[in-house]
Amino acid sequence: MEIRIKKTNQSRLPHVDLSNIPFGRVFTDHMFIMDFDGEAWRNARIEPVDKLRIHPANLTLHYGQSIFEGMKAAKNEEGVPLLFRPEMHAKRLNASARRMCMPEIEEEFFIEAITQLVDLERRWIPDMDGSALYIRPLMFATDEFLGVAPSKKFTFLILTLPVGPYYTEPVKLLASDQYIRAAVGGVGEAKTAGNYAASLFPSELAQKQGFDQVLWLDGVEFKYIQEVGTMNIFFVIGNQIITPEPNGAILKGITRDSFITILRDWDLEVVERPVSIDEIVDAYDNGTLKEVFGSGTAAVAVNVKQITYKDSDLELDLSKASIADRLKQEISGIRHGSIDDTRDWIKPVLEQVQA
Ligand SMILES: *Cc1c(COP(=O)(O)O)cnc(C)c1O
Repeated sequence: MEIRIKKTNQSRLPHVDLSNIPFGRVFTDHMFIMDFDGEAWRNARIEPVDKLRIHPANLTLHYGQSIFEGMKAAKNEEGVPLLFRPEMHAKRLNASARRMCMPEIEEEFFIEAITQLVDLERRWIPDMDGSALYIRPLMFATDEFLGVAPSKKFTFLILTLPVGPYYTEPVKLLASDQYIRAAVGGVGEAKTAGNYAASLFPSELAQKQGFDQVLWLDGVEFKYIQEVGTMNIFFVIGNQIITPEPNGAILKGITRDSFITILRDWDLEVVERPVSIDEIVDAYDNGTLKEVFGSGTAAVAVNVKQITYKDSDLELDLSKASIADRLKQEISGIRHGSIDDTRDWIKPVLEQVQA
């Protein structure tokens, strides 16, 4: 399918300070958008970002049939934007689509759409080290009908946003024994809107108590650790690095997968298995818990400085933490092209569209 391009005649770029961008609020000039008419994706186009007209009975607004992705393009030394593992994001979008009764998108076309949009918006990618273009693909139902049934029509769009170096302070987590994010058999493995809506209230409660985020436990026994916010989680216990095994309730992060691969390439032992919160408390008590960190596209790796569970406050000694830092440097280096891409994770966006 050909992608029609309608360019803005008034770029907002001259009015944007790329060295100081609030995350999530500044969009580039254009978006990719196409429609599914019940049979096929049609009318693929890149056009100026604008408001959408939505009918009040739009199915997404009422029943949440909506999925998304989050990825980044960073520039290398020569200024070429590099996509990081775009085919993995295409596969995960399609896995989310299947779970939510939505149409899939051909992997190559998904990558082509992103490539053309990033190509057109390349001037929006900040030069500063650690900066990038955040890419947000989104698919949602567009039928206008009040009934709980899968939509026949959908819209798929891609927004791009310049983002600065994303540094996060080490975080304090509250392991909740009251609220859950997702249960086995539910939609926790899909990047679908409702999961994030479900997390808002417990996260707000945790924040009022002085925590940064909730550490989610399983929905049956409140025992096994799942993940945190929009990050997967890793524990360094003794000489092992342990991360919860995806069981259908955990989002399968692409950063998670990259970390596991890199750690094994470094000859470190990584184990994917169920991890209970009691095991973490015990490891803390007997001094073998060395480091805890989260993984995700936005911040890459975030150190955890405290986990609170019931009456236990586990305060982690960050001077012992080194693995998260090493991983962050490795992934950032690969994404920016300063470390050799030996695993074929990088796809450069060469100049095609007429600027
Ligand atoms: C997106 C996301 C992650 C991290 O996935 P990455 O592909 O590494 O960015 C983890 N957990 C949740 C709930 C997410 O939405």
